[in-house]
Parts: sequence; structure tokens; C-alpha cells
Amino acid sequence: MKDLSREVSMLCPVCGNDQFESLDEHYPDPSEAPDSALLKCSDCGATYTKEELFQENSEKIELAVEEMKEEVLQEVEKELKKALRQHRTIRKARTELSV
Ligand SMILES: [Zn+2]
Repeated sequence: MKDLSREVSMLCPVCGNDQFESLDEHYPDPSEAPDSALLKCSDCGATYTKEELFQENSEKIELAVEEMKEEVLQEVEKELKKALRQHRTIRKARTELSV
């Protein structure tokens, strides 16, 4: 199965920028910072905790999750159909052999 994971970039609710710097000196990388860490928008300078940012972007995240579910379902269906087709081919071959 192909890789269906995707990354949702957080957007600044004020200006829509997706670059943030962590103000937590222990976690300079925003993606590794804990939810309570303060992140600062590199563009407009607004600060949020990571948790607030997640909440602001929750609709976007949910949408991405929904899309991912759809894709997973489609993939599973495709794999199933392929498996069924192979199954039928095998049965057909067996029938031909027994004749
Ligand atoms: Zn901003």
C-alpha cells in the first residue's frame, strides 16, 4: 500500500504564515515542543502556545483526517478487488485443468 500519511502545516490565525519559531529554549524545534510551549509566528510575531495553534487549526486537521480516511478506504477497496481478481483467475485455471 502506498504511504497515505500527510503533514498538516499549522497556519498563523492572524496572517496565515506557516513558519513558527519556538520560544521554549529546551525545544528549539516547534514540532518537538510540548503543547504548552510558546510558538512565535516568524512573520507577524504573534505568539501562541502550541495547543492554541492546534485548536485554531483543528478544522483543517479534521479535514485532512477525513481525506485520509477516504483514501485509505479507496486503497483497501482496490487491494480487495485485486485479490478477488487473482482468486478468480486461480479458480478458472483450476477448472480448466480438471477438464
Ligand atoms: Zn502571523
